[in-house]
Amino acid sequence: MLIKLITAIEDLPPVLAASVSPEERSCVEKLRTQGELPFAVTPHFASLAGPEQNDPIRRQCFPNPAEFLKDPFALEDPLGEALYRVTPRLVHQYRDRCLLLAGGPCAGYCRFCFRRVRMSRSPSFISAQEIEPVCGYLKNHAEVRELLVSGGDPLTAEDSKLAGLFRAIREARPGILIRICTRVPIAWPQRLTPETLRLFVGFKPLRMMVHINHPRELAEESRRVLADCAARGIPVHVQTVLLRGVNDNAGTLVLLFRECLDLGLSPYYLFQPDLAPGTAHFRLPLKEGLALYKELQTLISGLGLPAYAVDLPGGGSKIRLNEGSIAGETQTPAGRAYLLKAQDGKFWPYPAD
Ligand code: SF4
Repeated sequence: MLIKLITAIEDLPPVLAASVSPEERSCVEKLRTQGELPFAVTPHFASLAGPEQNDPIRRQCFPNPAEFLKDPFALEDPLGEALYRVTPRLVHQYRDRCLLLAGGPCAGYCRFCFRRVRMSRSPSFISAQEIEPVCGYLKNHAEVRELLVSGGDPLTAEDSKLAGLFRAIREARPGILIRICTRVPIAWPQRLTPETLRLFVGFKPLRMMVHINHPRELAEESRRVLADCAARGIPVHVQTVLLRGVNDNAGTLVLLFRECLDLGLSPYYLFQPDLAPGTAHFRLPLKEGLALYKELQTLISGLGLPAYAVDLPGGGSKIRLNEGSIAGETQTPAGRAYLLKAQDGKFWPYPAD
């Protein structure tokens, strides 16, 4: 199944097209001419958006002039993935798991994308030549128990390509847990046909890590496909990015997590945004995020509450955030920053409010 993306304002549903301001139009053009993360949205995701400028779905996919403001904290590679690359496509930062950058384009581009620079370069799906060294590495590293297949979005690839990749992984490591990191069930649920889900079942142990930010993203088709995954014994874990103006209030998040639980999905992580260029306007101040998480703890059971986490900027590892996370403050060349403690005991700066 070939992906259809709307990349021109004129191709949006008429109500949305009519709502686009001259500033937004010039952003779309500027992104195109500067070779930056383009405006691209699936017809399905566009159909969920409202015409108001502050609509939470619209905000996630429509470019904003704030993307062009200089952010002194911004990093090209906010997670420091390049530091841990062991093949051109494989990242080994944590002892028991590896990240495979297998995708491929995404099913539309999130304006807050943490891999903004990589995705601007239109990466292609992993080739057979690139899979070979990945499998060689996995064969020689038995301590790696989980493989995060990410991207871009691996599920924009055709079934035959996914089958080729999964077969190679299984041959190299029969028992390794495959974690598919994707937004396709939300942005393009029609892609996940019963045949595709049957293919996944054949490569168990396999789990889906699905990126969902707002309860309105759980459209009928998405609910059906996610419930179908759960019914077929494919566990689904939900990853949510905490985004200013999208889901930065307890009511929205509680509704999202409860609906996920009702569908048989497990809320897994609530991420404090990474420091990708052009995304600072989505970043909730850390202290506000911590206060919001404290409120969530009083409103939803442990089953429905994901861990609040951040990837320490520049490769410091993922840490869970709580009231004790801020160990101090420091002045950096980019500005005032909080000091957060990594798993190895070192302190890393994250922008202060
Ligand atoms: S789905 Fe993920 S990688 Fe793709 S644009 Fe959105 S945040 Fe970026």
